[in-house]
Amino acid sequence: MSDIFNVIIIGSGPAAHTACIYLSRAELHPLMLEGDCSNGLTSGGLLTTTKTVENYPGFPEGIGGYELTQKFRDQSIKFGTEIISQNVIEIKKIREGLFDVYTKTHIYRTRSIIIATGSTPKRLDIPNYDKFWHNGISTCAVCDGSLPCFRKVPIAVVGGGDSACEEALHLSHTASVVYLIHRRDTLRASEIMKQRVLKNKKIVPIWNSEVIDVDGEGKVERIKIKDTRDSIYNLEVRGLFVAIGHTPNSSFVKGLVELDENGYIKTTPKLNTNVTGIWSAGDVQDPHYRQAITAAGSGCIAALEVERWLHTF
Ligand code: NDP
Repeated sequence: MSDIFNVIIIGSGPAAHTACIYLSRAELHPLMLEGDCSNGLTSGGLLTTTKTVENYPGFPEGIGGYELTQKFRDQSIKFGTEIISQNVIEIKKIREGLFDVYTKTHIYRTRSIIIATGSTPKRLDIPNYDKFWHNGISTCAVCDGSLPCFRKVPIAVVGGGDSACEEALHLSHTASVVYLIHRRDTLRASEIMKQRVLKNKKIVPIWNSEVIDVDGEGKVERIKIKDTRDSIYNLEVRGLFVAIGHTPNSSFVKGLVELDENGYIKTTPKLNTNVTGIWSAGDVQDPHYRQAITAAGSGCIAALEVERWLHTF
């Protein structure tokens, strides 16, 4: 450990890179710790798993999620961000305005931190999940639902919470029918979302049922469903959207910053955490929107707040 950084940004998605772009242009020489892929995600986070991003302004033809995050990365580096591929395992507060950030091999000392580590969609534990991932299985209707392969065809959504309802409602605009498959006979979602789903004639709930596998010739063509009476049958669908919750990637700061009951980092509207000198941006603090553009916007807010704070500190 030698230098004291002004600010360390932990993460590598749109929130983290937007923060880096602002902070490096402000000549604060940020360090980004982007992770080393050992947790299953490449640098760039969840967005890299999206085939085509069609709702990020500036790309009317759409852009691959991986390509977009590479552009973010290039832009961060262009303005002087230092990027190191190491996973952060712990943060220790030395005193107000001084923190040690631990990876497996190094300790980095910094005056401030932005945590933008994103969230991980929970996966369905079925045998062919990996085989059909991005070949009909998705976890983001807003990102993938308008792709031609999912238009005017039957689609299944798994889950019973607000996310599943949102996915089903979104897909109902383009799919021929949306089967909402839930393991119980009532939705966990908020009342308003429940009502919207139950009133939507294109959404067909399948209660007390689990998806136990998926099959097809190279892409999803049918799913296997098991109901609570143990009968098993196939359902013809061309897409399976899994919306069984997200896990915010916040476990490494549990006990340091305040988390909500689902593990999301609690932030103020200016994205401060409860610890002075630590901000958070993007999906790790956002259970509601989870879009690349909202994450990028929050990265900008956090960066501007850090910049102001460092100038007055
Ligand atoms: P939730 O945890 O609320 O719901 C997950 C759903 O998936 C539950 O119905 C659960 O079933 C089901 N499930 C979990 N594991 C499995 C599994 N292995 N197989 C089948 N089904 C499974 O997650 P959400 O992402 O929906 O919501 C997270 C938080 O974000 C909530 O607080 C929600 O209100 C909020 N949110 C708010 C939105 C909004 O306000 N617009 C939009 C999206 C989310 P069971 O019910 O049986 O436990």
